[in-house]
Amino acid sequence: MDALAHYIDGQWVQSQGRSQDIVNPSNRAVIGKVALGTVEEGEAAIMAARRAFPAWSATSVDTRLGYLRAILDALVVRNEEMADLISLEMGAPRWLAQGAQAPSGAQQFRETIKAAENYQFEYAMGSTLIRREAVGVCALITPWNWPLNQVAAKVAPALAAGCCMVLKPSELAPYDALLFAQIVDEAGVPPGVFNLVFGDGAMLGDALTRHAQVDMVSFTGSTRAGMAIAANAARTIKRVALELGGKSANIILPDADLAAAIPASITTCMNNSGQSCIAATRLLVPAAHYDEVRALAKQAAEAMTLGPPNSDAEIGPIANEAQYRRVLDHIARAKTDGAELIAGGGDCPAGLAPGLFVPVTIFGQVTPDMAIAQDEIFGPVLAIMPYDTVEDAIRIANDTPYGLSGQVWGKDHASALTVAKRLRTGMVHVNGAPLDPAAPFGGYKMSGLGREWGVQGLEEFLEVKAVAGGA
Ligand code: NAD
Repeated sequence: MDALAHYIDGQWVQSQGRSQDIVNPSNRAVIGKVALGTVEEGEAAIMAARRAFPAWSATSVDTRLGYLRAILDALVVRNEEMADLISLEMGAPRWLAQGAQAPSGAQQFRETIKAAENYQFEYAMGSTLIRREAVGVCALITPWNWPLNQVAAKVAPALAAGCCMVLKPSELAPYDALLFAQIVDEAGVPPGVFNLVFGDGAMLGDALTRHAQVDMVSFTGSTRAGMAIAANAARTIKRVALELGGKSANIILPDADLAAAIPASITTCMNNSGQSCIAATRLLVPAAHYDEVRALAKQAAEAMTLGPPNSDAEIGPIANEAQYRRVLDHIARAKTDGAELIAGGGDCPAGLAPGLFVPVTIFGQVTPDMAIAQDEIFGPVLAIMPYDTVEDAIRIANDTPYGLSGQVWGKDHASALTVAKRLRTGMVHVNGAPLDPAAPFGGYKMSGLGREWGVQGLEEFLEVKAVAGGA
């Protein structure tokens, strides 16, 4: 299947740009082509959004939520179809695509609808009226790892706020966005409000984030691209929301139940082949318990099954060739740096070639100066780092440029919570608890700016106006 036509101003428009292959990561087969849209095509989408903005931003919240509900219903009905596409384009196991990747799109719409239904878009402050208004035309740029989730986490609040938008999904995994655009079209969203362009970051992403007619950029992806985007946006003082990389720590406190904490920590870290920005890839363990942790981690890692998405394996392939190479390079570097290889550490098992599979890999005796302790790997690779005191653990946890997420495990809840509060991260999970689906999602430091999901996610797309004498 090809993704060669953009969706601009309510029409499917064939791209005049070059194209590149879309590759199935399970077997490296070419499964279609994606357009690398031109700067002019990006400009056409921006101007369509600009033209639609006055009317769309003036609609009532109820009217806009009607469209969101129609999109939500279609996402629920088409969950299987969406899951198939996600498995195909980025290799998520079928159970994960069907049970988490595809439903995350509906979940973002559901939570945005709830947030907007209860939101005060206007209120009086004495005689001054405080209004929340749409920011304007937004460029939305998304990656391949949780592709629909990231599309929906931006499009749903942007629509609810009254913004018009140009979405540029990852050129490596464009199919979910293609189906999503068909759903938006069938929901009857007025032409120009939502536009989709296919293309790469260097040309089209750069053009969208520089354009003077774009008021806001919401980006999820690497810190490298986030820096370039923030610099582009600075020229016209665009609002920027960034969800970037992470190197999250998982602190196992001395009183933690290791038999529960270690297997759960390994499973959550390796979910989606470790390609989740919040993956807790640094396991900080009391030095006195290192041997026990080592044995439990090895057992948990070796029990995880690797296989193609249509099998019942827990772990699928790495999503694309560039990422596969990056992961293997990191593994080789960790070996050279002297980390202790506890599990995995190899290339694709013979039976799964030529797919992009990397066995679950655990390194031990990792020290903070090693690259594996500092760099985001974005693959099924975990570093175990022994610590002496809880103070040391907190210092090591906070000692990276990132600040996205973290975990703390301990029997005494109050102590675990005290440690959680000292982590310089946007999110922390205590004893493996999941995040509420309406909780703010985002990072400190070089992990980003702003928050997605729920009320805070909606507010990213709203400006504030104070009208003196308006109340
Ligand atoms: P990437 O930054 O290479 O690409 C992401 C998107 O940005 C793609 O659509 C790409 O075309 C575009 N892009 C790339 N360079 C650009 C530029 N200079 N200007 C404009 N657009 C550009 O990242 P990736 O490899 O697709 O995704 C993996 C990275 O994303 C990891 O670092 C991961 O941690 C991060 N990520 C973060 C979150 C989060 O919520 N914090 C979520 C998912 C992924």
